[in-house]
Amino acid sequence: MAELRTGSVTNFDAWKHAYAARAANLSVSEVRALFSVVSRPEVVSLAGGMPDVSALNGELIEQAFQSLMANRRNYALQYGGGQGDVRLREQIQEIMALDGVHGSVEDLMITTGSQHALELLADLFLDQGDVVLVEAPSYVGAVGIFRHKEAHIEHVFTDNEGISPEALAEAADRLIEQGKKVKLLYLVPNFANPSGVTLTAERRQQVLEVCRERGILIIEDNPYGLLYFDQKPPQAMRAMDDEGVVYLGSFSKILSPGLRVGYVLAPPAIREKLVLANESAILSPATFAQMLISEYLSITDWQGQIETYRQLYKTKRDAAIEALGQYLPRVETTHPAGGFFLWLTLPEGLNSKEMLPLAVNELVAYTPGTAFYGDGRGANNIRVCFSHPTAENVKVGIKRLSNVVNLQLDL
Ligand code: PMP
Repeated sequence: MAELRTGSVTNFDAWKHAYAARAANLSVSEVRALFSVVSRPEVVSLAGGMPDVSALNGELIEQAFQSLMANRRNYALQYGGGQGDVRLREQIQEIMALDGVHGSVEDLMITTGSQHALELLADLFLDQGDVVLVEAPSYVGAVGIFRHKEAHIEHVFTDNEGISPEALAEAADRLIEQGKKVKLLYLVPNFANPSGVTLTAERRQQVLEVCRERGILIIEDNPYGLLYFDQKPPQAMRAMDDEGVVYLGSFSKILSPGLRVGYVLAPPAIREKLVLANESAILSPATFAQMLISEYLSITDWQGQIETYRQLYKTKRDAAIEALGQYLPRVETTHPAGGFFLWLTLPEGLNSKEMLPLAVNELVAYTPGTAFYGDGRGANNIRVCFSHPTAENVKVGIKRLSNVVNLQLDL
């Protein structure tokens, strides 16, 4: 049977007495635990949410690199400001405008990927026991951060139109009534990780109202918004409210995650604190990576590259949907209109985590649904990430997955 690293770490630790209590909340992400398995070439990985960087035009990146070395080398190799490079922030304004978001350069800050923005925000807002409302299911990396901050993570009912405003209001009021501080709503409104679902325009307005009325700050995390397959998703929530929403973006999915550059647009008072927190944590975001991206954006057809990604992921999404219909007709799936993911619901009673070693034996890996909940739900769900394997391998992977699932169903 294939060996899986399932999250246990070494038992011998001479420093157990010295850790802060909250270190106990650091758990190995089920996604990262899969990395050693999925790197085996014979395994088709539908697990980690990785972009297909083989679709990047390497020559353009090289041109950006050469231009950077020729023109801005000393700057690129030096420390930078804690808020990030001004020219890059101006360029980010153009990218955000594609989502209908207009924010000033002063209110933008560069981070080490948007994961880092989430960490800074959670640190800034969440004391132990404070409530953060999230979708059901929610992004594993955010759930991990909130758990580490010892926050109360409340999953709110979410369907194919996104989070339910009624359920949101009900959950917030119930928790406020219990005397809890309901501080944040964390959302991935476009092509969500892990569900692939997009929040409708109507619900965006309603969600804004629910939060405004109750003084709940919205974190709108939007790494996938530009990766739509047919039509643009509805306007960003930040476009409708610049005081109540902190907006996160990233170059990881529209360019490359290896560069580790993301950004956060926040109301001025929050942004001031974020910059102080950024400086305290890392002094400055990586100047070299920022400059390389800035050069890339100024000398290449970066929108053309995004269009290439869109077409590619659409082909892979189609391959996944076709294979699911063919091989797993008894399994429910979402139909993402963009992004990287779809979300499977297996019949009650099946356990996707227990099935994983069997799947790896069949040479396919996926992420079990429980990774996307802070409360143990998701046992009969699977996140399928179709972005990284070739379209052909997406089909092969789903066929292999069906061998395991159908066997369980027939037992
Ligand atoms: N938010 C969401 C919803 C994500 O899917 C990811 C990456 N998987 C991130 C944030 C973090 O991305 P990065 O730090 O690479 O910008």
